[in-house]
This record gives sequence, C-alpha cells and structure tokens, in this order.
Amino acid sequence: MTRDHGIVLLLVMALLAAGCGNGSSAKDGADSGSTDTDADTDADTDTDADTDTDTDTDTDSDTDSDSDAGADAGADAGPWNGCVEGSFSPYFGNFHAHTADSDGEGSPADAFTMARDVAGLDMMAVTDHLEQLYNLLGMPAADYPECMATAEEMTADGEFLALCGYEYGSGFGLVGSTGHNVVLFNDYLFPMVQLDFHDFYQSVIESPSCVTEFSHPGDEAGMTWSNFEYDAAVDEKMNLFDFKGNGDTWSLYFQALDAGWHVSPMHDQDNHSANWGTADDTRSAFYMGALTIAALYDAMQDRRSFMTHDKDAAIRLMADATCWMGSVLSGFASLAVDAEATDAEAGDGYATMELYGPGQTLIASVDCGGGESCAIGDTIDVAGPTYVVARATQTDGDVLVSAPVWVAP
Ligand SMILES: [Zn+2]
Ligand SMILES: [Zn+2]
Repeated sequence: MTRDHGIVLLLVMALLAAGCGNGSSAKDGADSGSTDTDADTDADTDTDADTDTDTDTDTDSDTDSDSDAGADAGADAGPWNGCVEGSFSPYFGNFHAHTADSDGEGSPADAFTMARDVAGLDMMAVTDHLEQLYNLLGMPAADYPECMATAEEMTADGEFLALCGYEYGSGFGLVGSTGHNVVLFNDYLFPMVQLDFHDFYQSVIESPSCVTEFSHPGDEAGMTWSNFEYDAAVDEKMNLFDFKGNGDTWSLYFQALDAGWHVSPMHDQDNHSANWGTADDTRSAFYMGALTIAALYDAMQDRRSFMTHDKDAAIRLMADATCWMGSVLSGFASLAVDAEATDAEAGDGYATMELYGPGQTLIASVDCGGGESCAIGDTIDVAGPTYVVARATQTDGDVLVSAPVWVAP
C-alpha cells in the first residue's frame, strides 16, 4: 500500500530534478531546465501512441455523442458522454501493481503471466512508482518503455490485456502526502518529482490520453488530495476511484462524488509481492464490448466499472432502461434506475442491495434473501444535479459497488 522509499535516494533524485534545494524550486525546475529534455524525448514517443489512441477513441466517442446529442444539449462542455447504450460484458482485472522496477518483486512479464495463468484475470496493469522509473541522472530509465513492449507482446485480443502505467505519489515524506494516483494510457512519464498534487493535476491536464485514478484514498492521514479538491479539467481524465485502502473508502467515495468528481469504482490490489491477482479475490471490473485495449479505453473513458470483493460477481446499474452506469444525463425531471447483481459461482448469495445518492444518503434497499442474484429499482426526482450508486452485499460479507449514473434536470 505504501512504499518503502529510501529518503536519501529521493532527496538525491529531487536535487537532480530541481537543480537546487527546496520544494518550491523543485516545482519550478520541473517546468523548465533539465526536465525539458524529457519533454522533448516524450514528444517524440507521443506522436505514435497518440495517433493510435486518438483514432480508436474518437470513433467511439463520436458514436456516443451523436446518439446523445439531443438529450445532452444542456450538458456541460467536455467529454460528458450522455446516455451510453450498448451490449457490454464484464471483464475482471487488477490495475495497480508493482514489480522490481520499483519496490515490488519480479518483472512485468512475471506479473502479467501470473495474473493471466494463475489468477485468471482478463486484464492486468503494472504500475510501478513514477519516480523509480527514472535513473539516477533524472532521466527516464528503460523500464517503462520495456514494460510497454512486454505488455504489447503479451496482449492477445479476446484472451488477455496487459498494460503499463505508473503510480504518482505526492510528498514523499518530505512534506505530507496528499495522495497517490495510478496513471494509465500515457506512454511518457510525468515529471519525476511533483511534491504537490496541483502539479500532478497540471500533468494530467496536459496529457493527451491518460486515464487516472484516486488510488488507495485515505490510506495515510491527509491522503485525500485536500478533501478531493475539484478541478473540472482534471475531472475529464480522473475517471476511477480505488476502494482498496485502510481508510473508510466507502465514505471517501461520496466525499469525492459530492466534490463533483465523475469517478467510478475500482478495487485494485497494489501488489508489492509476487501475488499479482492472487493476493485476494478483489477485482476491478469493466463492462466492455470486447476484450481489447480499445474497448478497455472506451470503458474507462465512460466510467463503466465496478468494484468487487468476489472474483466472479458482477453488479450493473442502468438508467432510463438503456443508459449504462457511467452515463452523465441531463434533461430529466425524474429518472428510473434499475440495478442487478449476479454471481457466476453457485452458492454465493446476496444479502442486501441498496441505492445511494449524494451525501451517502440511502435511497432504497431490498432484502435479497440469500438469492444468487438480486435486483433493485426506483424512480428518483431530479430537482438538481444528482447521482445514484448501487451497492450489493453478499451473505459472506463481500461487497460490490457500481459506477454511478449522473443526472441533471
Ligand atoms: Zn501508493
Ligand atoms: Zn502502489
């Protein structure tokens, strides 16, 4: 969960990155001087990957926007997707894990192999610590491009998806940590040292393609990005919220949603040992049209995820009959929502299912009586911007949380 940073190493790295002493200089340094070299290198790498990613995604988003144009005329500017319709199936993964490239064990290939062959995951991301993907001269090391090459080799559409990202961390013990964020779908490294999460927010805004996550929120005191300080431009790419952590992530989730973030649930494992996907049965799942990188990117963009403590269970929330969870709707005076939970493994039953709204307010609940599937529905008044989240609890205590549906009048 938290890493073992060698403070000495980090100080050396911070000094190298900054060219001089204190924290604020380090930030200035990241904007100019030595880091420019990285930016130039990055720009070259970008060109290829951006072309790929953008091409895939544009096609998908255009389709979405076209079908929603009418209903969403009043929606905020930005990538808010309107009613996302389609036929999607759940795929299960783990999107936060370390290897010996930072403070874990083994190689990215080891991690992907175990996740695929032992844990039976559909998708796996290796996300080593950002600052440890730089060498001692403050230049990007070979690790990240090597990881991406391995991931590309090991990805087989319809069978297994391998990805590489990295984990941003603020503070490093030099100042208080305000949070960690896994960054996916970014083929260059953000600046090595960004003590303040506002600098990280800026990197997110400047990234043409990334998807990022609030990772293990509340894990350490104050690890809440200053009470989930909202930034509309960052919100477009901060799509995911990790439920792993020592804190009360269920309450923290509503704190993030109530601050305005459009984030959907994950439960990543943050492996620091050779137990990628096998550490426990928790999973981050996405509803996807196919098991491909493009479909995963699409599902992340549209926040079509759920978290589950049970590796076979699934939860789904739909609005207005056909709009998938993750949809951002407008133009409704009231909205019908329906949620359903299932478990592929016979014998795992459900105890309760609930719908929640802003302020962690319970809207409706049902007793599932131990059934292997459970459903709940309600019609909510839309007096102002609001959202609904579904939660299911199994008889063994395992919990699943759906992505929200957001709706405005
Ligand atoms: Zn972390
Ligand atoms: Zn981590």
